[in-house]
Amino acid sequence: MSAKIRLYVEHPLGAGQSIPLEKAQAHYLFGVMRQRLGGAVALFNGRDGEWQAEITEAGKRGGTLTCIEQSKPLQMPPDLWLIFAPIKKARTDFIVEKAAEMGAARILPVGTDYTNSERIRQDRLQAHAVEAAEQCGGTYVPEVGDLQKLSQLLDHWPAERQLMFCDEAEVGNALQLAAQSHSAAPWAIVIGPEGGFSDRERKRLHAMEQAHVVSLGPRILRADTAAVAAMTLWQQAMGDW
Ligand code: SAM
Repeated sequence: MSAKIRLYVEHPLGAGQSIPLEKAQAHYLFGVMRQRLGGAVALFNGRDGEWQAEITEAGKRGGTLTCIEQSKPLQMPPDLWLIFAPIKKARTDFIVEKAAEMGAARILPVGTDYTNSERIRQDRLQAHAVEAAEQCGGTYVPEVGDLQKLSQLLDHWPAERQLMFCDEAEVGNALQLAAQSHSAAPWAIVIGPEGGFSDRERKRLHAMEQAHVVSLGPRILRADTAAVAAMTLWQQAMGDW
């Protein structure tokens, strides 16, 4: 039977491998979840798939888990980046959590001309991505990037990576067409901030040969709703759903 508790660890996983627990993990397992010696935990590290493990040492400040057998192979998500401009804290957390659940490979916060928030706590957002992967049964954790300028990201844009540019001023949907010719390519979704993209940014995005301009319907969605809607459309057209 598979363990109900799933934990992300940095340590390599393999048959017989001992995994030392950090203090916070020990507190979670033994203090919060009331686990004891012999208890079952599922582990993943983003590289070796999911492993069933047993609690072989339990203490207040630490403990050890021992890997028994692999229960899932590593399942990589499609090569899809989600690029978004951070908004209010709770909504930014939501975007990161949903992107991890829905199958983004990388999550890239960007500063735009009208970005609401100039700073992010990358470590906190990364922890949200880990937590989302723990809860959704994923074996991969998307990397959350540091905040960078959209213009700089576009300056070094990889030639083969296609771009789903979500623009509320657009009608129609270029995604179905793009899926016919670019389904094997790496992709990125780009969502603007609450104030939208500036004219300069919209012109630049429209001019990119990799850009496929997509409408998410006749209503203007909040950036967090737009991120979920865009990932749904992309996954439906080209992803692993
Ligand atoms: N420019 C807007 C304004 O201030 O009226 C609103 C921007 S919207 C809140 C945030 C982002 O979500 C947009 O930049 C766009 O990327 C995406 N978005 C929202 N609604 C959309 C729609 N109907 N179609 C395509 N993209 C949409």
